[in-house]
Amino acid sequence: MLVCALCAFFVATFMIKLEAAELAAKIKEAVKTEIERGIRRPGLAAVRVGDDPASAVYVRNKIQACEAVGIRSEHHALPESTSTAELLELIATLNARDDVDGILTQLPLPAHVNETAIIEAIDPAKDVDGFHPFNAGRLAMGRPVFVPCTPAGIMELLDDRGIEIRGTNACVVGRSQIVGRPMAQLLLQRDATVTICHSRTRDLAAVTRTADLLVVAIGRAGLIGREHIKPGAIVIDVGMNRVSDPDEVRSLFGAEAERRLEIVAKRGATLVGDVNPSEAAEVAGMLTPVPGGVGLLTVAMLMKNTLKAARLRRQ
Ligand code: NAP
Repeated sequence: MLVCALCAFFVATFMIKLEAAELAAKIKEAVKTEIERGIRRPGLAAVRVGDDPASAVYVRNKIQACEAVGIRSEHHALPESTSTAELLELIATLNARDDVDGILTQLPLPAHVNETAIIEAIDPAKDVDGFHPFNAGRLAMGRPVFVPCTPAGIMELLDDRGIEIRGTNACVVGRSQIVGRPMAQLLLQRDATVTICHSRTRDLAAVTRTADLLVVAIGRAGLIGREHIKPGAIVIDVGMNRVSDPDEVRSLFGAEAERRLEIVAKRGATLVGDVNPSEAAEVAGMLTPVPGGVGLLTVAMLMKNTLKAARLRRQ
């Protein structure tokens, strides 16, 4: 009992926060340097439909990153009423333009728009988000061209920290096309033994507790707690949820709660991932923080994919 308590104490004391700011800056700096060396300036077109405030922030961050690294960008902000046909017309124009190397449509699109048709209309050579079936298929076959930015960024982080992937028991919670599935593919290709969990998984905690590497992408604030995490596990938290209820903030952030409550008072909410950070700190060996973790890498990888698209299109 005493030994267990001591173990928990040491894990809690020494849990490493896998901050990603430095790596994200390094990736963007490498893109910038390559552009400065003389490749024709890459161009990225971002398409957003409707007034979703979170989507507006994500697109703004992407446009700002483009400016910082020297990628030409354009932002097509369309009204909520935009039809699938109108959007397809815009995509066709962007596909045909030589000065556009990358096209991204910020998801989710409004319910009346046929999201699949839009994703499939993007020229796979300009599909810098890696969502087109061509790119998803290439990834599944182990011959990727464009890999979705969030899982690609996570792989960069694991490699940057020298984290062993081969042979490890990895568990991905979430099976979305943009995070969970490509994440599982990437880990499998690097010889991890991969389990994928989802909303119908029976006894989620019993499965996730077997994982040395746990990647969580579900969109439920703090759902993954101490009972889901194997002691010493590496936990990658993809979730981005806003919480404003003071009791919830206290239960999620422990010692950090007061600082987070100040943020709630100032901005109306604070960001939390899908992992309960204070409980994870008691058991995990490493954890990506939210904010300051995976989200920063997603934008950096978009810059890298856009540069790659520009290079490939000019070969
Ligand atoms: P999504 O498309 O809504 O998929 C959620 C997945 O989680 C689904 O596969 C769902 O299972 C599963 N799930 C839901 N509730 C569950 C539960 N109680 N137990 C187990 N599995 C459960 O979400 P997403 O687009 O992958 O995004 C997930 C989270 O990551 C969100 O918070 C999103 O904001 C965030 N995100 C962050 C970044 C970043 O850059 N940091 C990028 C993308 C997404 P079913 O398939 O059975 O429904």
